Amino acid sequence: MDNEQKKSLVTYLRFAAAQPKGFLYRAKKDNKTFQKEQSSMLNKQEQLAALYAKYVNCMSCPLSTQGRTQVVFGVGNPNAKLMFIGEGPGRDEDLKGEPFVGRAGQLLNQIIEAMGLKRKDVYISNVVKCRPPGNRTPLPNERNTCKDLLLFRELEIIKPLIICTLGSPSTQGLLGDDVQISQVRGKFHDFQGTLVMPTYHPAYLLRNPAEKRTVWEDMKKIMAKLAELEK
Ligand code: URA
Repeated sequence: MDNEQKKSLVTYLRFAAAQPKGFLYRAKKDNKTFQKEQSSMLNKQEQLAALYAKYVNCMSCPLSTQGRTQVVFGVGNPNAKLMFIGEGPGRDEDLKGEPFVGRAGQLLNQIIEAMGLKRKDVYISNVVKCRPPGNRTPLPNERNTCKDLLLFRELEIIKPLIICTLGSPSTQGLLGDDVQISQVRGKFHDFQGTLVMPTYHPAYLLRNPAEKRTVWEDMKKIMAKLAELEK
């Protein structure tokens, strides 16, 4: 096995390890639905693994040569109805190879749990997959390159019912470079036929805890819309 193959395998194993435990062995309540879900989940999982294997050594934008440890791909349930998109990996994510595992990630986990969900039920990714140096905001060319190669492909595979963008870079990545998070947050928007709810980034909430209430209002709208869509 050469180095490229080893890296692809490591990516695949990292991806597989992040999937919901026992999702292959769930009780067969309704066999037909179960089989359909399983084959679609496996299919999506395989498609994501193939996508990630292709970009494990991505050199497509300047972030590839600015000190990243590894490319940090999305994690979660490939069949998720809800997908969160952040800005880009920070130091903890760059070291661990998983999005939202630092302080902002812990707050995101709390938000997800307050919605009655678990981290493994949703899909979590970032608009750029490599850590910008010093955690600076990703530049438009980095964001555009990465979203075309990876984020848009993740969205095509997962097909969530609702996308929740966290902060400006991911919101602008989907809704346009000129949008202001303060003007668009809290309302549903359209991205190629999928509902998008922009809200504040958890890192912003750590600096401005009073805004947690605002974000909770946005999450309540997501919960209500999910319930309506799943009727
Ligand atoms: N902030 C982000 O936007 N993404 C992460 O993965 C971690 C922190």
